Amino acid sequence: MLIDAHCHLDSFKKIELDGSVLPITCGYSHSSNIKNKEIGEEYKVPYVLGIAPQTAIREDLNKLEEWCSFIRDSERVGVGETGLDFHWGKTPEDRKKQYLVFRRMLGLAEELGLPIVIHARDAIKEVLDELETFGVKRFMMHFFSGDIKEAGRAVEAGGIISIAPLHSKKRKIVIRETEIERLVVETDAPYVVPSFKDVIKAVEYIAEVKGMEFEEVGEKTAKNAVEFFNLSFE
Ligand SMILES: [Zn+2]
Repeated sequence: MLIDAHCHLDSFKKIELDGSVLPITCGYSHSSNIKNKEIGEEYKVPYVLGIAPQTAIREDLNKLEEWCSFIRDSERVGVGETGLDFHWGKTPEDRKKQYLVFRRMLGLAEELGLPIVIHARDAIKEVLDELETFGVKRFMMHFFSGDIKEAGRAVEAGGIISIAPLHSKKRKIVIRETEIERLVVETDAPYVVPSFKDVIKAVEYIAEVKGMEFEEVGEKTAKNAVEFFNLSFE
C-alpha cells in the first residue's frame, strides 16, 4: 500500500478508498479541521490538524486558543498544515499574524509530542529559521518546491521532504540528491491533482529520477510516512 502523506479529503466530492493508497488528510482552518476529524473517524484514515498561514490572515485570531483546544482534544497524528506564506501574506501586518499562528502551532506540537506539517510558500528560508530557532526536528516540508540547498538545510535540521507529482527541474535535483529515507510522497489533492491515487505519479517520478524500482520507492516512502507520523495499524 502506498501512502499519500498530504491531501485534503474535506474538499473531495466523493471519497473512495480501495486499499491501494492510504491518504493522510490535512486541515488548514478550524472549520476544515472539524471536517477532517469527522472524515478521519468515518473512513479510518489518519488526519493532521492545524492552522495554515492563509487562514492566519483571513480569520479572527481571537479564536486561536479555541482552535488549539479542538486540535488538542482530537486523535490527530500531526499538527499542520502550518507555516509561512509570503505569496499571500504581503504586508508586515499579515506576516505578523502568520508568525503568531505558526509559533502557536509549533508550541502545540511540542506540547502534544507531534510532528509538524509545513506549508512554506515564498518563505522557505524564514520557515527554516523558525524551525531551527525553536529546535523543531520532526517536520515535513509539504509540497516542497525549494532548491537543493534549502532541501539540504531542511534535512540537516531533521526534516523530511514531501514530493508532489509535478515535474520541475528543481524538484528533480532535490529527488536525485536527497536520500530516499528522507522522502515521502503526496498529492495535495484535490487542488493540484484530482485524487490521492495520483500519488502513484509521485512514486513513479522518484523511481525514474533515482533509477529505483517502483515497488521499492512505494514501500520506502510509505515506511517513512509511517515512522514520521508514528502510525499504528490494528
Ligand atoms: Zn495542502
